[in-house]
Amino acid sequence: MDYLPIFLNVKAQLCLVVGGGEVAKRKVGVLLEAGALVRVVAPEIDHALAKLPNVTAIESRFDAQHLMGVTLIIAATNDRIVNKLVSELARERNIPVNVVDDPELCSFIMPAILDRSPLMVAFSSGGASPVLTRIMRGKLETIIPQNYSRLAAFAERFRELVKTRVTNPAKRRIFWENTLDGVVAEKVLTGDEVSAERMLQQMLADEDNIQRGEVYLVGAGPGDPDLLTFRALRLMQKADVVVYDNLVSQPIVDMTRRDAQRIFVGKKRADHTLRQEEINELLVRLAKEGKRVLRLKGGDPFIFGRGGEEIETLAAEGIPFQVVPGITAASGVASYAGIPLTHRDYAQSCMFVTGHLKDGTMNLDWDALARPKQTVVVYMGLHGLDTLCTELVNHGMPDSTPIAIIQQGTTQNQRVVTGTLATLPGLAAIEKPQAPTLIIIGGVVKLREKLQWFHPHNS
Ligand code: SAH
Repeated sequence: MDYLPIFLNVKAQLCLVVGGGEVAKRKVGVLLEAGALVRVVAPEIDHALAKLPNVTAIESRFDAQHLMGVTLIIAATNDRIVNKLVSELARERNIPVNVVDDPELCSFIMPAILDRSPLMVAFSSGGASPVLTRIMRGKLETIIPQNYSRLAAFAERFRELVKTRVTNPAKRRIFWENTLDGVVAEKVLTGDEVSAERMLQQMLADEDNIQRGEVYLVGAGPGDPDLLTFRALRLMQKADVVVYDNLVSQPIVDMTRRDAQRIFVGKKRADHTLRQEEINELLVRLAKEGKRVLRLKGGDPFIFGRGGEEIETLAAEGIPFQVVPGITAASGVASYAGIPLTHRDYAQSCMFVTGHLKDGTMNLDWDALARPKQTVVVYMGLHGLDTLCTELVNHGMPDSTPIAIIQQGTTQNQRVVTGTLATLPGLAAIEKPQAPTLIIIGGVVKLREKLQWFHPHNS
């Protein structure tokens, strides 16, 4: 270890920043956030900076007298001689000093920070590689969500109460582990502190019943793992059991917790591995066993995903759950295929419909679909493609209307076949796109010719 990491309390302490440029300004900002009083010294100081509360600006060249009464110094000038002088004088006086980007002149270095106050993460590569530090920060951002602040504040609020109620320290630790990594934490993270508090009180009342099951209904997006949300990823790595179907791509399933139990519940067209009711029951049973259950669904759970039915059963059984939205096929697939769903010249609205055949027919409001200046996106429409094109033309849509069928959008296997209402059924019979496929109809499809080349996933 090359440095001793510590957190300094600088509240109401006078700190000195030498320099008036952008870097100096940033340093002043950090110091102010930590509650310091800041003296800024530079020949020229930005007016806005000088006017900040708790800032005293001294427009002059740096001088030893500016060190009077300060507890910490940061030098951020672009003049190495000045920086060196600051460093020497500070060291003589045993005042901690940091010179930006010059470790040799520093008695302490400033870490990169991830601020989830009161929770703070400070990290540093000791000057070895700022880029690595930046990458690390990105990783930390994903595993420590923004509202961890809230969680920390929540824990702080109940700290004393828990201490008096759970007197055994070992038990208290387990209590907090279950609270901060379980249902209560999830409630706090979604902003529902009222329920969180109620649950915490319940847990305090019934200490033995600490492990409670819950269900996360999570949208996994259309296929590319990069399109997952932070929250999805976090819950994927937390769940004890994963229940998924065949719309969820393998790379995404592989990102769930390594030791989690994985249950495949299928659902290809007409070949339902488990019926919907059986899935609903399975989720309830697992949660009642005290498990954290991840119900992973393709796209968005609330768009043709039957997510509503699944949570209805959970709610009826009193099982805590949360729903995490995902990027739905329409938006993910369209953007990877270079087709904007709306466009001022071609479409002012966009409709999502299901082409799922019931008793061999497609029960849709054809007049509404055939209207001009809109985009129609059809989920589960491949098998009804002929009917779809014929009915639209019968209801007044020109048979020259552009239409695209996109196979396995956003994945390595993405393939796009375009044509018109008149030609696409024939083309599809030859090209035989593989499920899942999405159909997009409307003038916007033409824009693909111009836009597809800008996308890495064009086909
Ligand atoms: N809840 C999902 C949709 C489930 S219905 C969502 O929001 O995306 C299943 C249909 O979604 C498929 O038949 C297909 O039409 C469409 N779909 C899902 N993922 C797709 C993909 N990667 N490429 C093309 N279509 C996709």
